[in-house]
Amino acid sequence: MSGRVIVVGSVNVDLVIRGERLPTHGETVAGGAFERHHGGKGGNQAVASARLGRPVLFVGAVGDDPFGIEARSALQAEGVDVSGLVTLEGTATGVALILVDRRGENLISVASGANAALEPATIAPALGRIGLHAGDVLLVCNELPTATVREALRVAHEAGALTLFNPAPAVGLDRTVFGAADVITPNRGELRDLLAEESRRTGRPAASDDPEVGARSLLSTGPEGQGVGQAVVVTLGSSGALLVTRDGPTIAVPAIKVEAVDTTGAGDAFNGALAVGLAEGRSLEASIRRAVAAGALATMKVGAREGMPTGAELEAALSG
Ligand code: ADP
Repeated sequence: MSGRVIVVGSVNVDLVIRGERLPTHGETVAGGAFERHHGGKGGNQAVASARLGRPVLFVGAVGDDPFGIEARSALQAEGVDVSGLVTLEGTATGVALILVDRRGENLISVASGANAALEPATIAPALGRIGLHAGDVLLVCNELPTATVREALRVAHEAGALTLFNPAPAVGLDRTVFGAADVITPNRGELRDLLAEESRRTGRPAASDDPEVGARSLLSTGPEGQGVGQAVVVTLGSSGALLVTRDGPTIAVPAIKVEAVDTTGAGDAFNGALAVGLAEGRSLEASIRRAVAAGALATMKVGAREGMPTGAELEAALSG
């Protein structure tokens, strides 16, 4: 049976200045070039899924400002159903201010705005209107309040949907959150952060730096409760991804070799494609193979959303 992808996540507008060098404290550096991009992990993941041709519904929040109107239309233009995207009065849309120098080094400051104001109480009614059922896949990232993420995972699980949690950024998370997900998708740094935070809280040493050992410890029951339901998928950049399940053998999926020009958005492309594969009824391993290809294709263009592959591009990369 095939289902839909429901993304619960963040929406940002990215304001970028590319210049010769980054300013220091109190300094003004003139002469840069300005760009504006639509971003936020949630929005990017929804676009990644929609380009692959699955029905995608988005649940999130923007503010009642011009950026909110633009962010909504940008998602709509990609075919994402935005009926679950609320506009919060008197709140600003999430904005990221990004300065990039000629070597690609950056300084980023984020005002989460409406994303930080998305309350847990909005989740059950929004998912209720969507009417989740078995076969649907819910994908949620951590650029929302933790209580809201937890509620999304709980409601979707109860409705029988498969739940995918991208623990990015991996801050403020414990087993009451990631233990409620069927599948989690940390990158190597996020996996380390999840383990370090648990170790700090429990006073027990963190599992080894080996991603397989670390992932396995998040699957088993720990001092703070049950682990991830089915699988931990660790993304390893140009080394591909690792699938670690409760019962099966660990499977290393190699990356596709590409000329990477900008790795921003690779993780979002991976998560969006993984959700689509699972919603199409494919196995975890088969879905990860497609996600690895989508992540690689996303690195071949500058920008996050701009680089998300279409279904045809993904099929070509998989057969090539
Ligand atoms: P994030 O963007 O969240 O840090 P990763 O860097 O691990 O996540 O990238 C996600 C996926 O994108 C990887 O698992 C891999 O499949 C693909 N990918 C990322 N960078 C490259 C690269 N340089 N070459 C090929 N594939 C890549």
